Amino acid sequence: MSLLETRDLRKQFGGLTAVDDVTFQVDRGETRAVIGPNGAGKSTLINCITGMLKPTAGSVHFDDQDITGMEPHVAVQTGISKSFQTASIFPNMTVKENVEIAALAAEHGSFQLNFFRDRGSFEGVHRISERMLDAVGLLKHRDQTAGSLPYGDKRRLEIAIALASEPEMLFMDEPTAGMSPEETNSTVDLIEELQDDLGLTILIVEHDMEIIFRIADRILVLNRGRVIADGTPEEVRDNEDVQEAYLGG
Ligand code: ADP
Ligand code: MG
Repeated sequence: MSLLETRDLRKQFGGLTAVDDVTFQVDRGETRAVIGPNGAGKSTLINCITGMLKPTAGSVHFDDQDITGMEPHVAVQTGISKSFQTASIFPNMTVKENVEIAALAAEHGSFQLNFFRDRGSFEGVHRISERMLDAVGLLKHRDQTAGSLPYGDKRRLEIAIALASEPEMLFMDEPTAGMSPEETNSTVDLIEELQDDLGLTILIVEHDMEIIFRIADRILVLNRGRVIADGTPEEVRDNEDVQEAYLGG
C-alpha cells in the first residue's frame, strides 16, 4: 500500500495545462524523485499535493485519506511537510526559536501567542526542536541568529523547520539550488541520513542527475505536464522518451 498517491491530477492555468492527468504513487520510506525539463510541471505538481495550489481535477491520497485541495496547514496535520526557501526564516530570531515556532504552529494548526502559556506543550516543542536541529547538524548553532548563518546552513535550517511538524513525508523542490559543490554534497548526505535516521518518505525535485541517480529509489519523469516515464533509475536512464525530452526533441 502506497503512502501517497495522485490520481489523474490536473492543474490548468487558463489555457495552459501545467499538470496533465498525473497518476503516481510513493511508497512508505522511499525517496522518490520528480525530474523533467524546465516548465515540465514539477513545482506545480508538488504545490498541488501540499496544498499551495488547488488542483483543477483529480485527487491526492495520503495515508488512505483524501487530501485533495486541503489548505497547507491542514495538510501538515496529516503528516506531510514542504521545505520552503529562505523566505520562511525569521532572520532576527535564533536558529532554535525558528524551529520552535514551526513546531508550535504545526501542533496547533496555526500560530497564536497563547500557545506559549501551555508549558507542557512547550517542553514537547523544545524536544522536537533539539532533535531536528541535531538531525540537520545545526544543534551547535542553535543560539545564533538565523540571519547570520551561511547560505548552506540557512537551507539546512529550512529543512529543520519543515521537520518541526514531525512529518511522515517531506517535499523538497530543488534543495541544492544556488549551493556550492561542498554545500550540495553535504545536503545530499543529509537527505540520505534523514531517510535512514528518521524513516522519512521523501519526494524531491532536483535538476542534478548525478544527485538523483545517487539518492532516488524511483524516478517520475514529466514533460509538458505529462508522465513520460516512471521507474527505477536504471529503467528511466534507458528510456528513449526521456533521452529525447532532455535533448529537446
Ligand atoms: P517546473 O517546476 O517543472 O520548472 P512549473 O511547475 O513551475 O515547472 O511550471 C509548469 C508550467 O506552468 C510552466 O509553463 C509555467 O510557466 C506555468 N506556471 C507555473 N505557475 C504558474 C502560475 N501561477 N500561473 C500561470 N502559469 C504558471
Ligand atoms: Mg520548479
